[in-house]
Amino acid sequence: MRFFLDQPLAPGTDIELPESVWRHLQVLRLQAGASIVLFNGDGHDYAARLSALSRRSAQAEILAAQAVPRESPLRLHLALVMSKGDRLDWTLQKSTELGVHAIHLLSSERCEVRLHDDERLARKLQHWRQILLSACEQCGRNVLPQLTAPRPLLQHLADTHRPGFILDPGASGGWPEMTATGDIELVVGPEGGFSAAEVAAAQARAYRGLRLGPRILRAETAPLAALSVLQHRYGDLN
Ligand code: SAM
Repeated sequence: MRFFLDQPLAPGTDIELPESVWRHLQVLRLQAGASIVLFNGDGHDYAARLSALSRRSAQAEILAAQAVPRESPLRLHLALVMSKGDRLDWTLQKSTELGVHAIHLLSSERCEVRLHDDERLARKLQHWRQILLSACEQCGRNVLPQLTAPRPLLQHLADTHRPGFILDPGASGGWPEMTATGDIELVVGPEGGFSAAEVAAAQARAYRGLRLGPRILRAETAPLAALSVLQHRYGDLN
């Protein structure tokens, strides 16, 4: 079992596990002596032994650190207009499993999610971050994808300087031939799609239009299809 801890970890030390972890350990009915893996996002897996577990606390002894490379050489940035309900949660989870490097949340003309209230935004960010952490625990990643707080699409386009594609069912461009690896961005729209002005703004910033075949995919399907193809062709999905 893998658990994320937001703290420095070092072999040969004993640590007190936070409540979120010991509650999970109790649900799993693990006993003292069990082997667990801890990670903190620094690229290592830390083998540990559960040294004590009571109803209100747990301690672990960190035994060893191992650098385990599970990050793709292709640093995929997903610039994602937020969708409603649990679709966004689902996309965050699956993109993490597919090895996305960073997720930039966006609002746009046809975005139906409104987060004007700071407290609600902070709660949402915490919730999304937890989804990324849980996905990393499950899929073995030991580097967390970056998560950028929502901002308007046009502002993001104006400030971003990396090669990218805007996923647009009306685009004429298909899959590109690429030679370079490194950072690449995919901009994905909401259920209502992008406005013509938004597509034009992206093209003016040198984003290339990308059409994913003849069918319209749902807002949660399109990013996963595109991430999978790019990881397969240029990354580590092979
Ligand atoms: N009627 C909308 C339109 O024409 O754009 C459909 C939007 S679609 C449900 C949600 C988003 O997924 C789109 O904004 C686009 O980014 C992406 N998408 C869906 N199907 C696509 C396709 N075949 N090619 C490229 N992008 C697609």
